[in-house]
Amino acid sequence: MASLILKAPLDGVVVPLEQVPDPVFSQKMVGDGASIDPTSQVLIAPCDGRVTQLHKAHHAVTLTTADGIELMMHIGLDTVNLKGEGFTAKVAEGDQVKTGDPLIEFDADYLATHAKSLLTQMLVTNTERLASLSPASGLVQAGSDDFLTIQTIADTGAEAEAAGRSVSSEAILIPNATGLHARPAAVLANLAKRFSSRILLTRGDDQANAKSVVSIMGLEIAQNDKVVIVATGPDADAAIDSIAPQLAAGLGDEGAVPAPAPATTEPDPANAPAPRPRSDDPNLLLGVAASPGLGVGSVFQLRRDEIDVPETAAGEPRVERRHLEEAVERAKNELESLQTELRAKADPAKAAIFAAHQELLEDPDLIDIAESAIAKGKSAAFAWQRAYSTHAERLSKLKNAIMAGRAADLRDVGRRVLGILTNHPTEEPAIPVGSILIAEELSPSDTAKLDPTQVLGFATVGGGATSHVAILARSLDIPAVAGIEPRALDLANGTQVILDGGKGQLRIDPDPAEVDRILTLKRKLAEKKQADLAAAHEAATTTDGHRVEVVANIGGIDDAKQSVTLGGEGVGLLRSEFLYLERQTAPSEDEQAQIYADIAIALDGRPMILRTLDVGGDKPLPYLPMPREENPFLGIRGVRIGLERPELLRTQVRAILRAAKGHKLRMMFPMIATIDEIRSVKGLVEEERAKLSDAGEVELGIMVEVPSAAVMARQFAREVDFFSIGTNDLTQYTLAMDRGHPKLGAKADAMNPAVLRLIKQTVDGAHTEGKWVGVCGGIASDPQAVAILVGIGVDELSVSVPAIPAVKAEVRTRSLADCQALAKQALSCDTAAEVRALVPTEY
Ligand code: PEP
Ligand code: MG
Repeated sequence: MASLILKAPLDGVVVPLEQVPDPVFSQKMVGDGASIDPTSQVLIAPCDGRVTQLHKAHHAVTLTTADGIELMMHIGLDTVNLKGEGFTAKVAEGDQVKTGDPLIEFDADYLATHAKSLLTQMLVTNTERLASLSPASGLVQAGSDDFLTIQTIADTGAEAEAAGRSVSSEAILIPNATGLHARPAAVLANLAKRFSSRILLTRGDDQANAKSVVSIMGLEIAQNDKVVIVATGPDADAAIDSIAPQLAAGLGDEGAVPAPAPATTEPDPANAPAPRPRSDDPNLLLGVAASPGLGVGSVFQLRRDEIDVPETAAGEPRVERRHLEEAVERAKNELESLQTELRAKADPAKAAIFAAHQELLEDPDLIDIAESAIAKGKSAAFAWQRAYSTHAERLSKLKNAIMAGRAADLRDVGRRVLGILTNHPTEEPAIPVGSILIAEELSPSDTAKLDPTQVLGFATVGGGATSHVAILARSLDIPAVAGIEPRALDLANGTQVILDGGKGQLRIDPDPAEVDRILTLKRKLAEKKQADLAAAHEAATTTDGHRVEVVANIGGIDDAKQSVTLGGEGVGLLRSEFLYLERQTAPSEDEQAQIYADIAIALDGRPMILRTLDVGGDKPLPYLPMPREENPFLGIRGVRIGLERPELLRTQVRAILRAAKGHKLRMMFPMIATIDEIRSVKGLVEEERAKLSDAGEVELGIMVEVPSAAVMARQFAREVDFFSIGTNDLTQYTLAMDRGHPKLGAKADAMNPAVLRLIKQTVDGAHTEGKWVGVCGGIASDPQAVAILVGIGVDELSVSVPAIPAVKAEVRTRSLADCQALAKQALSCDTAAEVRALVPTEY
């Protein structure tokens, strides 16, 4: 530990960084230090050092001390926009300076009239080297008064840095739809940690330690931000060669955001988070819809005990450090077993949340800060608690709702380690059956443990719709409201409430008639579910004997097994992406052939349609770097990838052909738009078949999800054995509405008559050529759509696994003649709402 005193760089009044009216500084995104409201006009060196960066607008300069501490001085706010006007640099990059040497002279009158503020910041940017920092207060005089006193910790990266040179990547545009949020930040940190060089992620003036998740997230990098990776050290070249392409390809991020939160760093008035809602009705509390559904139950306030920790260490710092290391290790093991358990339950989404927690525990900033406090005689528990709380606090203040939401993850994992350190295991409260939980905040670990038979819903004061807690609630099918008015915490245990997760409301002491209505509805729903389940293994036949096949959309072997249990008659869509995502290399032919055969065995003789890889510009694969596209949904995706980079598709085709030996497999190609495409693919299949001695028989089909395929259905039908209509994409391409768009997504309804007419055109074209048609888009799982699709003439409905019993039951409720009459009416409607009104639903 060393001490460094930095002299005032200007005459003026010291202002705490937190009071600077610019979040980049006040939230310490660039570094930690203090600000000064200047009365002089020459910025001087606060210590000896080398000028390592002079901004071309001459408003900011960075000095690096002999010990590697980086000090950035930034004159005024928004002064970069002055493009050098009003500033005169007195030094150049590479100059060696002594305390008191002039660095930049500026024209205070010009700045006062042309910039937002004259406040000048002095920041330590490599905060991982900071053990503590104390700014002066009041009036200071340049060069003579102390301004910042800092304690620094040894630089482990310095050796590496000294032993190598500095290499920068080319500028990279960030492709991730939600920017570098927790998951890609974790992937980046993990990649960077493989190298001994110091690695920085830079965006303009801002920079972050690329080995630190928190530091990366602190930059709030948004989609299309331009960044550069800078590596300094012995393996700098290798680091850039490895990291830059993966960063450009999206770090394996699918870009899928489950909820409509803005990801931009600039406030977008259209997307800006709404102010916390408040209700004037004393019996109605408002929040944000986090997980849909209605829960009627009694309040149970879930309070987590504060863990008391001694500030001063009982033992030597060495011993405390070991305690911390052991606790972190144990927490990682716990998280590892939690993930194994969740993967075994086929819940990879939840497992990924805890993988991100594990990554947070690898964060060097977090550990460094805790260890520096331990070195000063603090107990491991105290040092750890302060380190993670400070980081979480910093995250929670970020503008980007998604990143701010990750503060809960950090607190969760922090508390897990603290519980281990203090022998204070997170004991489970006895939650009464029929509870609606109210809590200040629920951690992802708390949520994953909730038992939906006991807990009928929950409301938290913190959190938002994009938090991991909300995602978990949706996957558990528990209604939830986030950001509820804090007075919810004052409700007495046992108070009757109705929680409406869809509207984001909590009704206190509701009208008994309303409670009755909801309970009756829920009871009817439960009874219907039971009845559908009881008949799940019977055929789906209309009252006049027309048989419709009801099969499943699956994403792996567990879905396949469950579909059989729920009466699925086969698989209408295996989304083979599951084999390709979340890994660093493509699956081999043998691995694929084995998995496809295993799934077919789980289906016990039932047929399966295997869709070839459907990824693209919107879902990049780390091992398949593709150029960034302006319009990924209109770019190289689906079968186009297979044709452009045929090695992947050829391997998959061989694997399917081999697995088809002895199993009923069909092969289907996504996103077919032209006849040339299907002919090319068929040629490719024949070439691969000719290479194999053990190929089975497979029928070939296409997804109809581009309007051109529907319009030309008859011609396509002559090329293939079957069609499956992907209404999710067909709707987005027909209506030109992005299916994941926060505002348009809900309007992109496949019940729109335009889409129904294309479905009819597809069915007619196929039937004329003697081919059959399935629907595998989401609409097939919607009970309101079933009779219309059957009436149009669809032969097979491929639905989400849980929907199988209800869809089969729906088919049984009408005659084919009724369905046909209904379809006729639907096709002549003007709007999706009119179509839906033809099939009213009680539920
Ligand atoms: C569809 O587009 O309807 C479909 C089933 O494919 P995916 O949802 O996988 O794009
Ligand atoms: Mg699709």
